[in-house]
Amino acid sequence: MKLESYLNGRWQAGSGEGRAFVDPVTDEELGRVDAGGLDAASAMTYAREVGGPALRALTFAERGGVLKAIAAVLGEHREAYGEIARRNSGNTAADAAVDIDGAIATLKVYARLGASLGDARAVIEPGRDQLAREPVFFARHLWTSRPGVSLQINAFNFPAWGLWEKVAVSLLAGVPSVTKPASATAWLSAQMLRDVVAAGVVPEGVLSLLCGDGAGLVEALGPMDSLAFTGSAETGAALRGHPRVLAEAPRVSIEADSINATILGPDATPGSAVFDLAVREVVKALTLKAGQLCTNIRRVIAPEAIADALRDAVAERLAATPVGDPADERVRVGPLVNVAQRDAALAGIEMLSAEAQVVCGGRRPDELVGADPERGCFVAPTLLRCRDPQGARRVHETEVFGPCATVMACAPGEAAALAARGGGSLAVSLFSDDAGYAAETALALAPWHGRLLVVDEAVGRNHSGHAIVMPQCVHGGPGRAGGGEELGGARGLRLHLQRSAVQGGEALLGRLAEGAVEAAL
Ligand code: NAP
Repeated sequence: MKLESYLNGRWQAGSGEGRAFVDPVTDEELGRVDAGGLDAASAMTYAREVGGPALRALTFAERGGVLKAIAAVLGEHREAYGEIARRNSGNTAADAAVDIDGAIATLKVYARLGASLGDARAVIEPGRDQLAREPVFFARHLWTSRPGVSLQINAFNFPAWGLWEKVAVSLLAGVPSVTKPASATAWLSAQMLRDVVAAGVVPEGVLSLLCGDGAGLVEALGPMDSLAFTGSAETGAALRGHPRVLAEAPRVSIEADSINATILGPDATPGSAVFDLAVREVVKALTLKAGQLCTNIRRVIAPEAIADALRDAVAERLAATPVGDPADERVRVGPLVNVAQRDAALAGIEMLSAEAQVVCGGRRPDELVGADPERGCFVAPTLLRCRDPQGARRVHETEVFGPCATVMACAPGEAAALAARGGGSLAVSLFSDDAGYAAETALALAPWHGRLLVVDEAVGRNHSGHAIVMPQCVHGGPGRAGGGEELGGARGLRLHLQRSAVQGGEALLGRLAEGAVEAAL
């Protein structure tokens, strides 16, 4: 099987050998991805010139209707997608649900947002400023769709959600998408797009997909376009500094990796409800999607008196967690996506071991359920314990993109500063019943983190999880995390809309307001 790309309104195959993608349980080749000879620049032009006008002719409510129709198509094929996710990503059913159901849920949230924005095609901010002594000259701020294309480059770990969370926002904003999935898992993205195109629910030119190395896409960016990238900090930095990006100044949003932390408050002692809730969340971080979530817990920060008990509780739960072929219903942890990712994770663990002791895991598993430990891309769920987190550097800087976290102790009042050693992160969580402590710590954590999850006994298990991105909440983090911001309900539209200060008289501003929906973005 060779994946095709959907460019210029038709499915096209590359002319080269391409790169293989595999079944990570066995490392056997499933197919190839190749964009050799495909014309990325003309595909960008086609999206801009054909998809853009078609989409901008629709109101927000009509675009919301398109998103609702896409969600319905994807829902119909959900089982087939789960099968692809199992075979190509090594996903258990629960892992696949995070990606596939997360994609469908995000589309539905943006469909409803579109309906709520109604028959407008522009947004106007509430309030006006009087700019002259006489009340005849004012300013209002107007948001309009940029007549460009949204280039979306995605990471391998969310072939479904990564694709649709970006399309949901850009489509609602009136901007067509050219999307490039990561080669390792492009199969699921390509199949989803094929089903949506075949259903005929999206205007021509609004969705394009390039399977392959993406050569020529960034080179085709223009001043009205945007680049939304999700992936490693290294690739993100290269794209940010790309000469075309610097020269044309398209909007850029980078969602990179981060060394996210979870923190236990001084009251989260063994036996307390919040201690148990924290243990549950750390275990989830080490099992769900085999730890391959960018928002995942990488560092566990607890007071000295709690850290060892926490380590033991998590290690005990991990010892009882079946690792193996996700086709076996008993399995809770599948493989990493390919051999390169497995070896990168093992090398990362090796680096961390210079500063932390391996409590469990730290290598390829000796035994697997339903799979051969000599083959495949498995890494045993790994917990480390760092004794000197203040003096350590690697535990705050190395992202092991797999089932791995490091427990470290901190003195009272030091937790937020230690979390900030990650250099800016996507998500942090805090487990405490002491609202005063939690509020004070949250204020210190906030500038360094895009999202904060605070769990007390009253919240209990009724939360969305440390790693799960909710479409209503902004996703992205400062510094190391890339400095981007996506989703967040209507806030996400900002990447694709141009805000202009319109200065003029009552008549003009009144007329503009009639055709726009009033909202604060
Ligand atoms: P990656 O190697 O940086 O690749 C990400 C994407 O960039 C892939 O589609 C890749 O294509 C493409 N790419 C690489 N070099 C490129 C270039 N020069 N020009 C254009 N595109 C280029 O990251 P990954 O290994 O797929 O994903 C894992 C990383 O993503 C982890 O570090 C994780 O933390 C991060 N991540 C972050 C988020 C977030 O929301 N912040 C979400 C998920 C993952 P190919 O696959 O074809 O090489």
